[in-house]
Amino acid sequence: MTEKREPVVQERRVVTAIPGPKSQELMERRNAVLSTGIGTALPAFIERAEGAILVDVDGNQIVDMGSGIGVVTIGHGNEGVREAAKKQLDDFTHTLITVSPYEEYVRVAEYLSKHSPVPGPTKSLLINSGAEAVENAVKISRKYTGKNGVAVLECAYHGRTMLTSSMTHKAVPYSAGFGPRAGDIHRVPNSYPLHDGLSGEEAAARTIKYIEKAITAGDLACLIAEPIQGEGGFTVPADGYLPALAKWCRENNVVFIADEVQSGIARTGTVYASEQFGLEPDIVLTAKGIAGGLPISAVTGRQEIMDCTGPGSLGGTYSGNPVACAAAISVFEQIEAGGVLEDAKRIEEKLGGGLRKLQEKHPSIAEVRGKGAMLAIELTEPGTLKPAADVVTKVIAEAGQKGVLLLNAGLSGNIIRFLPPLTLSNELIEDVLNVLDEALTAATA
Ligand SMILES: *Cc1c(COP(=O)(O)O)cnc(C)c1O
Repeated sequence: MTEKREPVVQERRVVTAIPGPKSQELMERRNAVLSTGIGTALPAFIERAEGAILVDVDGNQIVDMGSGIGVVTIGHGNEGVREAAKKQLDDFTHTLITVSPYEEYVRVAEYLSKHSPVPGPTKSLLINSGAEAVENAVKISRKYTGKNGVAVLECAYHGRTMLTSSMTHKAVPYSAGFGPRAGDIHRVPNSYPLHDGLSGEEAAARTIKYIEKAITAGDLACLIAEPIQGEGGFTVPADGYLPALAKWCRENNVVFIADEVQSGIARTGTVYASEQFGLEPDIVLTAKGIAGGLPISAVTGRQEIMDCTGPGSLGGTYSGNPVACAAAISVFEQIEAGGVLEDAKRIEEKLGGGLRKLQEKHPSIAEVRGKGAMLAIELTEPGTLKPAADVVTKVIAEAGQKGVLLLNAGLSGNIIRFLPPLTLSNELIEDVLNVLDEALTAATA
């Protein structure tokens, strides 16, 4: 029996410098044994986490505005996830779906079929990470179409494996120096309203023209798009852009893949962000927020696409781990029970509204954008679109000192993204906005 612990009070508390002495000691041990290739956003070691609060080893309570990059969307320490995972740990932890099947895998796939934005009957494959989902979607698209080309959008992020780092826009730190990039991957223009000023229709026409000139539909297996880009800067495409691309794909035997690894599972106020753009992809990818922190990901696609590969051709030893499946089932149950999507909308209203107020006061905020609890501010030199990455670096450092964990994004690092757990209270939103206001004032003084 685990004894009941005092809940973590949902408030920010700074009791030492951040990082405090215990974290500093751990950082030294960390640096001695961890590859320098592994980064650290805020060097405070975490002992416990609940709701939207991280408690560090020195007793500081940090407001988590990142959710471990959009993973604990349902909140840290979510009771449903904990109970489901514990029960599954006691029942069994692994059999391998391709050796001895279990119901939990099937139930996750049923939920994915029920909620995915892909029209018609769908089927799923479960694997372990976002990048693995992308890899499988590309493999399946190539098999289904008999073609090889992969079109990715400017500023895209699709992962760190050999194939997906080749698909990710930013070479440093993801692909530069790591050997030959995967072949037949083509970066095509995106819709980025703040910078291109194009309507969705115009931006789609530009993307399609580029594809037809530089690749041709005859060589293109798939086009992959994040409905709202994650690492690329929480870029929201102009209305009509994504459906126009999907229509062109349908007419040209090109598989449209929506990479909703970051934007999916209630993050934006709908189960998938695709819904909000009127987008019906052929395949949707799910990972990050699906299981409250346990590693699992999914490829969900039109039946005829998902059934194009032969028996035994898809999978992996740990794919669809039963404990992670149990956690994912709990997340879906909680979304269906109500309140989760509403929380994302509440955060959009309160945090988004507060950020727009800050924009009136701070001319370095060029734009406030996003949907639900996937919001961002882009910082530029006032009156221009020149990236102000130094301001972002200063604001994030200052906020970290004060116990607010913020993350940056964008090719130029001049975007601050907000993707808190959906349990973030209105009081904490006010608190974070005040810290941000002070940090912006200090950084631009
Ligand atoms: C994080 C992310 C990935 C990669 O997921 P991993 O689990 O880190 O492999 C792929 N696509 C998008 C949009 C992501 O945000």
